Amino acid sequence: MKQHIGIVGGGWAGLAAAVELCKNSHKVTLFESSPQPGGRARGIEWNGMTLDNGQHLMIGAYQQMLQLLADMGADTDKLFKRLPHRMLMCDTQTGATAFDLCLPTFPAPLHLLMGVLNIPQLSIKEKILLLIRFNRLLNTPLTTDLPVSEWLAAAKLPATYTRYLLEPVCLAALTTHPHQASARAFQSVLQQTFNAPAHFTDLLIPTTDLSQVFPALAAKYILQHGGEIYTRSKVQSLQIGDSRLKSITINNEPQVFEQVILATPPTVTATLLQDNRQTKSISEQINQLQYEPVATLYLQFKQAVSLPYPMLGLVNGLAEWVFERAIAGHNNVLAVVMSARGDYLQLPQAELVDRIYRELRNTIANLPDLLDSKLIIEKRATFQCHPNVDQYRPAIDTSLSNLKLCGDYVYIEENNHPGLPSTLEGALRSGVKCAQSLLSS
Ligand SMILES: Cc1cc2nc3c(=O)[nH]c(=O)nc-3n(C[C@H](O)[C@H](O)[C@H](O)COP(=O)(O)OP(=O)(O)OC[C@H]3O[C@@H](n4cnc5c(N)ncnc54)[C@H](O)[C@@H]3O)c2cc1C
Repeated sequence: MKQHIGIVGGGWAGLAAAVELCKNSHKVTLFESSPQPGGRARGIEWNGMTLDNGQHLMIGAYQQMLQLLADMGADTDKLFKRLPHRMLMCDTQTGATAFDLCLPTFPAPLHLLMGVLNIPQLSIKEKILLLIRFNRLLNTPLTTDLPVSEWLAAAKLPATYTRYLLEPVCLAALTTHPHQASARAFQSVLQQTFNAPAHFTDLLIPTTDLSQVFPALAAKYILQHGGEIYTRSKVQSLQIGDSRLKSITINNEPQVFEQVILATPPTVTATLLQDNRQTKSISEQINQLQYEPVATLYLQFKQAVSLPYPMLGLVNGLAEWVFERAIAGHNNVLAVVMSARGDYLQLPQAELVDRIYRELRNTIANLPDLLDSKLIIEKRATFQCHPNVDQYRPAIDTSLSNLKLCGDYVYIEENNHPGLPSTLEGALRSGVKCAQSLLSS
């Protein structure tokens, strides 16, 4: 029987759930509090350009994202520039290359083998050690969770590999510093990327702003399939009775649906569920989560600027990564990323810009003069992915028969693996899984 389903929240998770339900001919009505869908991954306007509210990176392992885009008939070869995996890490103090791992386009696991054998910063002995010990690290199940830094220290990998590659990758993937991050979650991310076909390690750099990569396509698909989308429509409260959700109040109007999906950020979900005795425990569970910020500093230069590789790792400085925006059409703009809590949060903006510009000048030859800059700090960009965090992540199903949850923070059971950290892929998988669970019930 086809049902009318209300979805609250038009981030990537809510949109994915809506697309999946529309694909199965259900009627969907989506409410988004902001003027545009996309949530934490959307386009913003600045100096006549459309950039993103935060620089994002996708990889070939984002199979749910690629599948959803294909389902909607999108041309993923046009949406992304697919680059072979290269982690080129530069020292911002000396300008020297700290580490360079470049995976050739060979079938797995030959790409890893050849990539490691070609690392210029390691001796032959270190390369052999790395191959043996990284394989062991990746494939030894972790029965108890521990901080990533302890896990890596016990593995006795070459120190430069740990410091200049794995630790920065952990911070980027989990938005959590290695001494606080979950080894089980990081191991799972590495397994899903490296114990997989070679193209899963590719970097997918969007050729357009994030709104055009998924939210706009999803919105079009939903409308074409008879769904409705209301922006500037904030759900204020839920009316609950007899183990069921009776209605949701939007702009002071109660609205009734057979099923409702809450695809709001965790803090909003917790607030909406806190006042009812049947849902209070979910709210208390979510309130145990902690959050990490991500800052993106856009630097606009007087002339075009290019990097030795479109994404460059930065070590021994304030920032961690710098991206060329030329692939998305802005050849005089760089996006500099700083993840999780750090010294950068204490600095006045002008000083931050000045220090980062100087670090980049040490690293990039012929860096042009700066024209303008824009700093965006998302205070709750992701949840902190610390050891055993999954116990605080709610499931899709709630105690109410017609209310389900989705979002990057929702735990989804996948062959006993730990949940993915806060990522676009995690948000999309949870949205699709939530819709499928609703379809099967
Ligand atoms: C700066 C930054 C950088 C990131 N970098 C990466 C990266 O490189 N790679 C990666 O994979 N992930 C990255 N992430 C994480 C990724 O963006 C998120 O995991 C993902 O966007 C979360 O999607 P979501 O749908 O779960 O939540 P959200 O995007 O938060 O969506 C929730 C939606 O609900 C709406 N809403 C809130 N309250 C209400 C209400 N009362 N009524 C109606 N609507 C409401 C919100 O406006 C929002 O649109 C980054 C995030 C940030 C912020």
